[in-house]
Amino acid sequence: MTRIARICVFCGASPGRDPAHATFARAVGGALAGRGIGLVYGGGRVGLMGALADGALDAGGEVDGVIPRRLVDRELAHPGVRLHLVDTLHERKARMAELSDAFVALPGGLGTLEELAEVLSWAQLELHLKPVGLLDPTGYYDPLVAFLDRAEAEGFLGAAHRDLLVVEAEIESLLERFAAHRTPAGRWNQAVGAG
Ligand code: AMP
Repeated sequence: MTRIARICVFCGASPGRDPAHATFARAVGGALAGRGIGLVYGGGRVGLMGALADGALDAGGEVDGVIPRRLVDRELAHPGVRLHLVDTLHERKARMAELSDAFVALPGGLGTLEELAEVLSWAQLELHLKPVGLLDPTGYYDPLVAFLDRAEAEGFLGAAHRDLLVVEAEIESLLERFAAHRTPAGRWNQAVGAG
């Protein structure tokens, strides 16, 4: 069983057109806080990132925001969270990963996609053994899931690695699957350092 104290959530710095996305992000933040799970995220107060953090803070949760110094103004760093200032986007991802026991992506754009792809590709190499999930209540990510199926069918992604991404519509079911997470049997039998 995997004990999860803090979850890193990747999501859009934009709110998206459909207000349901922000409502969902806020609810996810609240649900994590309600279970005593700390939130680690990109540190912004706008878009889905802001809604997520507000939901966690309003429910009394612990929130760590990791943000590069030069994005503090552009992404409007959230004044209510414990901010970790870093110098680069690479440091941001490394710090977010260090602080967290699992990763979840909500809807977002290229930044979210890049962050999700990195933690998945690192899981594939067993550079970390933490569970990775996609929370998708609206089918926004259907094309990405179809791409992964295609990559598997075309022989670019092994079946065990395809299963590294846990896709659910609700945070509750995702957390249940995370709790049952087992380290995949891979080519290496222990985690190796990411450096
Ligand atoms: P987006 O999904 O494009 O709205 O981006 C979500 C968040 O990811 C924003 O806070 C971006 O600053 C951040 N981001 C974009 N590219 C990267 C990257 N290469 N590494 C880490 N964070 C990134």
